[in-house]
Amino acid sequence: MIVTLRNVRTHTNARYQSTNHGGTEATEFAKVCLRALHVSVARDENMPSQYLNFIGGQWVPSCTQRTFPNVNPANVDDIVGLFQASGPQDVTAAFAAAEHAQAGWAALPAPRRGEYLFKAAELLESQLASAATDMTREEGKTLPEATAEVKRAINILRYFGGEGSRMFSYQIPSERDNVFCFTMRKPLGVVALITPWNFPSAIPAWKLAPALVAGNTVVLKPASLAPLSALRLVEALERAGIPAGVVNFVTGSGGAIGDAMLEHGSLRAVSFTGSCDVGDRLYDKATRRRLRVQLEMGGKNPTVVLADANLDIAAATLVNAAFFSTGQKCTACSRAIIERAIYEPLVDKLVAKTRALKVGNGLDSGIEIGPAVDASQLETDLKYIDIAKNEGAQLLCGGTRLTGGAYDKGFFVEPTIFGGVTPAMRIAQEEVFGPVLALMVADDFEDAMRLANGIRFGLSAAIISNDISRVHQFVNRIEAGLITVNLPTAGVEYQLPFGGTKESSFGMREQGPLALDFYTESRTVYMKHTF
Ligand code: NAP
Repeated sequence: MIVTLRNVRTHTNARYQSTNHGGTEATEFAKVCLRALHVSVARDENMPSQYLNFIGGQWVPSCTQRTFPNVNPANVDDIVGLFQASGPQDVTAAFAAAEHAQAGWAALPAPRRGEYLFKAAELLESQLASAATDMTREEGKTLPEATAEVKRAINILRYFGGEGSRMFSYQIPSERDNVFCFTMRKPLGVVALITPWNFPSAIPAWKLAPALVAGNTVVLKPASLAPLSALRLVEALERAGIPAGVVNFVTGSGGAIGDAMLEHGSLRAVSFTGSCDVGDRLYDKATRRRLRVQLEMGGKNPTVVLADANLDIAAATLVNAAFFSTGQKCTACSRAIIERAIYEPLVDKLVAKTRALKVGNGLDSGIEIGPAVDASQLETDLKYIDIAKNEGAQLLCGGTRLTGGAYDKGFFVEPTIFGGVTPAMRIAQEEVFGPVLALMVADDFEDAMRLANGIRFGLSAAIISNDISRVHQFVNRIEAGLITVNLPTAGVEYQLPFGGTKESSFGMREQGPLALDFYTESRTVYMKHTF
């Protein structure tokens, strides 16, 4: 296939041709520079844009000379772009660049590092509409959802830009005379950021921003299903003038380049968001090398609805949490645990609201639910629908792939509700990551707590009730990292810590003031005044 290089840039950053690396890495690095010099631009408006890796301040094609397509899940005729199918050599070059840039970046005062984030936020904001459209095209979420996500990424950049002027640590009194004690934060060095497709701008932003402001240099690998939104962030940082090598961006299959990332000698920490299977694999590799590791993974998030709940509020909250973003949020609600007294009337309202949802191409106005992200996720959704039926769950609405007309171009599935789900069913225990909600009946509050906690995951959980005593008990006893009351399980804010418990998460929290703990090492200083 002939590739059009509409978006290719041909930087020839002299700084990187005179760098002083040793051995194999020097060779890789030199090759990157040469590739950057030799990229030529051919224009053909009918061909998809090709996007490059960003290594050592240069936009470069992969050593493999192969690309992969990024396809719009609402319309497979729409190729969003071609991305580099990188190999281990590209990873080596990216780490070499990050290692080279590390000392200079760490030496820059943190408030000045923060200024790059402020500038990048401003630049991303200036292209909010096009960045949101890119996201809807590559991930499928609706345009209002994509717009909100890009705004969130902008807010994250600003929030951590401000952290550059805070970066608090402790001053603690000594028990000895004339001894002054304090802690200080030091960056870790080179960190790897590996991100999923479902929040393709916000998640890269909430890893990049604290990593950078803390003085680390990074190699970012976005999900292959939605790499363009992350690339837009990297472009904003580049245009903000961030020094070469501080941010490196490599696309390609995790299976092809994941090991090279985890095995690179300069790597000090890995922050990963994605599935439990991949997270487990990275954990094993990272801890064997005693690397710092942070994993945010799957969920099967419950909403407990108590008998005193306002049924309209409960139905609206459940529809929002279960189906918006096509149920493809790690914090989406996939289990509603409803007290028996209100089960039937709530089901009626919930089913009516769900049937009224408008499913379609997220670029079209009025659409509330977009497609599954790809054929494989659609297949997973349909597989779990079959499993639930075979297990004896009662299909209350949805349950089929949407076909006919424009639906045939994409991966659309009806928002689906199963009633009469029991804890032993797979639909009650396993993450689907699609618009499939399981309803479970609880005899009373204690039964609801037992059902809610009877699972290996522990990401988010909600309760719908105004019974203050039970709400307090729920907040204390629920096994989840994110807890909401009379709100959807999803819809968290960037300025608060984010993360789960049990098998959903491992390591320190992301976002909010705690995010810097992962990206910095604490040093403790005891200083005696001898004069
Ligand atoms: P995934 O398949 O685990 O992929 C996540 C990232 O890991 C992608 O960049 C992927 O690259 C990469 N990867 C795959 N194999 C790898 C390997 N061997 N070594 C290194 N990296 C590798 O997850 P996903 O399908 O993108 O995302 C959906 C999952 O993420 C769901 O389980 C969801 O619950 C979870 N999630 C959790 C949170 C949270 O904060 N808890 C937030 C969002 C999503 P490729 O794309 O190239 O395969």
